[in-house]
Amino acid sequence: MDLVIKGGKVITASDTYKADIGVRDGKIVMIADKIEEPAKRVVDATGKYVFPGMIDSHVHFELPFQGAVSGDDFATGTRAAACGGVTTVIDFAIQAKGEDILETVKKRMASADPKTYIDYSLHVAPTDVNKDVLAAIPELIKMGLPSFKLFMTYRKEGLISEDGDLFMVLREARKYNAIVGVHAENAYVLERLIEQFAGEGKTQCIYHALSRPNFVEAECISRGIKWAEEAGSRFYVFHVSTKEGAWEIAAARAKGLPVFGETCPSYLFFTEEKYKGENGPLYVLTPPLRTALDQEVLWRSIQMGTLQVVSTDHCPFQKAEKMRGKDDFRNTPNGLPCVETTLMLLHNDGVLKGRFDLQHLVAVLSYNPSVIFGMYPRKGTIAIGSDADLVVFDPEKEFTMSAAALHMNVDYSPFEGKRIKGMPVVTISRGDVIYENGEFKAEPGRGKFVKRYLPEALTTSPEPAVV
Ligand SMILES: [Zn+2]
Repeated sequence: MDLVIKGGKVITASDTYKADIGVRDGKIVMIADKIEEPAKRVVDATGKYVFPGMIDSHVHFELPFQGAVSGDDFATGTRAAACGGVTTVIDFAIQAKGEDILETVKKRMASADPKTYIDYSLHVAPTDVNKDVLAAIPELIKMGLPSFKLFMTYRKEGLISEDGDLFMVLREARKYNAIVGVHAENAYVLERLIEQFAGEGKTQCIYHALSRPNFVEAECISRGIKWAEEAGSRFYVFHVSTKEGAWEIAAARAKGLPVFGETCPSYLFFTEEKYKGENGPLYVLTPPLRTALDQEVLWRSIQMGTLQVVSTDHCPFQKAEKMRGKDDFRNTPNGLPCVETTLMLLHNDGVLKGRFDLQHLVAVLSYNPSVIFGMYPRKGTIAIGSDADLVVFDPEKEFTMSAAALHMNVDYSPFEGKRIKGMPVVTISRGDVIYENGEFKAEPGRGKFVKRYLPEALTTSPEPAVV
């Protein structure tokens, strides 16, 4: 045996039990009451939880955006992720206008491969939906990329897909069992509101939220669901921020449609009140922060399984870059640093506050994204034959959040000063102990591209199993 994790409480999305876990050649090969076989390495997990590695299915490393570049590259970003208990990330291959989309993917993989410390994949994001892009879809599926993201917004940034573009991609996706996700905000309405507010001199941070009211998101989600229903495709909504948005998804699922959604820590932990303080720009992201009522509905949507995934939308910019928007929110690059802190935050405010149990925590952070994006059972669970991606989590260890104590390449933390109980102490990626008690030890480039595959059967299934 290469590695044995001894004495921990194993927690998957479906079970909780005490067991030893044996690892050989990067895979889980034995789960037993006691493993007596000799092992090259033993990790003592007595008194601790053992989770499957977390999957962050929405990150933006080294992304040039709105006059800045997100602070973490594939090296610093995946290292910070691993310190927070994440063993797989999904980033994006965003097509430049007119670019051959297979080239887009190859270029992104060439950036990631030499740097990444943990396994990764990419969502393919076409911004120029022409016949070549549609014709490339079967090839992308063969490469192991069965998920797409379209922007229903960012018109001025040149990223937007019109309804026809979205419908055509959904129709092709249906043929190949892929899933199509969207950034849902109605660009036409929000641009006019921004223009109007700016004309009245209303450019303080709070107008970032007021210019993107809830219906701007909800209308777009509802429209996307309509096209997905007509095309018969799976559909996914990235970063749901509003109660109305969550309700659109709930209604679609009640009809039996394969519609899925995620929210992110920013929306679960902060409200638009942040925009009224002097550090408002640090919290600018799209969609914007909302009210306490929206927040409560999002927590309940996770509890009930209306939203299946919590991802981070990690997109860090430095404090000086964010503060460019002090007097005019339009000058702030959108995004927050989150990739390292999600497991601790959701354990603290989800499990310890009684909103859901440990198995549900594993469902939303590991099992559900692995099923929805086609990595199960290789990732997302602890089972014989699965990759030995594991997190040893100490439920008693306390921590105060601060930029200095975290590993992301950014000079502030939106959670600065927050006290939490419970944190990852060991992270194992395909059998390698890469993070242990505050020390990170791994070589860049050891992470591998994960080929993903979505089976036909799921197409008609309304949902993956949610505990
Ligand atoms: Zn994003």
